[in-house]
Amino acid sequence: MITGQTKNFGVIGHPIGHSLSPAMQNAGIQAAGLDCVYIAMPVEEEDLAQAVTGLKTLGFQGFNVTIPHKQAIMPFLDAIDEDARVIGAVNAVAIQDGFMTGYNTDVVGFLQGMHNHGFSPAGKHAVLLGAGGAARAIIWGLIKEGVASLTIGVRNVVKAQAVADYFRPYMQIQVMDWQSWEFRRMLIKSQLLINSTPLGMEPNTLTMPPIDWAAVPAGIFVYDIIYTPAETMFLRMAREHGCQTLNGEDMLVGQGAEAFRIWTGHQLPTEPMAQALRKCLENQ
Ligand code: NAP
Repeated sequence: MITGQTKNFGVIGHPIGHSLSPAMQNAGIQAAGLDCVYIAMPVEEEDLAQAVTGLKTLGFQGFNVTIPHKQAIMPFLDAIDEDARVIGAVNAVAIQDGFMTGYNTDVVGFLQGMHNHGFSPAGKHAVLLGAGGAARAIIWGLIKEGVASLTIGVRNVVKAQAVADYFRPYMQIQVMDWQSWEFRRMLIKSQLLINSTPLGMEPNTLTMPPIDWAAVPAGIFVYDIIYTPAETMFLRMAREHGCQTLNGEDMLVGQGAEAFRIWTGHQLPTEPMAQALRKCLENQ
């Protein structure tokens, strides 16, 4: 029951009606028996400053941040955690005694997905498809975990080169046209293959990155961060090729649970969160 003691959390963004976070977080909160509630709050771009001040005034202990505010919120915060600073985007804000710190929990969510399935990217040759917003969290996560090498395969090499240049102080990263022969050679020695493009996501379920599966070693770990559908065509091909596969559900749940841990110190149970997420996706 919501009472005067209930602690408030939520997510700001626009549009926000489609957000899966309220169902997911409240399922975890309920399973943990905590007196907290998590709501979706529509905030338009021009209202961001007022909304941030308002959430602080209203005594929120934390909130998530989604499109279009992930970069725009940074100047309004008192401190930015290292992951969010390096990635250049904030997806969670903690408020303690009026002091607001920005975090990016996608890194933890991305890595937890693999760890949950007994896979560590440390020392592995990784190939990443796509170089957009999600890729930045993935690249930083892989760097932090100590991958041996990282090749990014894309359709637009010039555009992706800027992302690789940004992360180059941390490790050597190659960008290649994913239809090239040199990219095929990198696939042959890959031990981890990740899709961070939206190719294959609902409603475009019959698309996927142009991978030559004959070049992918059977049995490697293949990770698609898409969670709708649960098995993209890319993941189905990987499974049929004998690879260990993982979709983006664990990443989504993991980033949410990590945000709540930062805000409260409580580790929410992830299975009820994943169940709530699946139920929402089935009803969409
Ligand atoms: P984004 O910033 O738009 O980046 C998308 C990347 O994919 C870019 O490199 C883009 O290349 C490439 N791409 C897009 N459409 C393409 C096409 N038709 N052919 C070839 N390449 C294409 O998107 P994002 O925010 O990184 O998100 C990507 C996906 O990850 C989405 O499906 C999203 O739902 C999912 N995601 C999942 C989680 C999770 O928690 N599981 C978190 C974040 C994102 P160009 O630069 O050439 O356009």
